[in-house]
Amino acid sequence: MPSYTFRCKDCGEFTLFFKSMSGNKEMADCPDCGHVSTRVFLAPNLHSLSRELSSRIEKGMEPQRMTREELGAKQPKKKTKVNRPWQVG
Ligand SMILES: [Zn+2]
Repeated sequence: MPSYTFRCKDCGEFTLFFKSMSGNKEMADCPDCGHVSTRVFLAPNLHSLSRELSSRIEKGMEPQRMTREELGAKQPKKKTKVNRPWQVG
């Protein structure tokens, strides 16, 4: 059962358990005060890693919101021009 940690700005962090991985799990209502809380992204086994690496992973775990158009634009374009130094003209 997947669990997600959220952070309420008033009450602090809390963890919810979900029956499935599907659906939007980025926001949840705080069980104590009902405020909408945002998800906290945690990398597993951070204690076994160096502090610098841990912070890097935590930054990397933050998802970026991208539109479908942005995703398409980020994909590498196929090189149509092939460098053939032996081919003159
Ligand atoms: Zn709260």
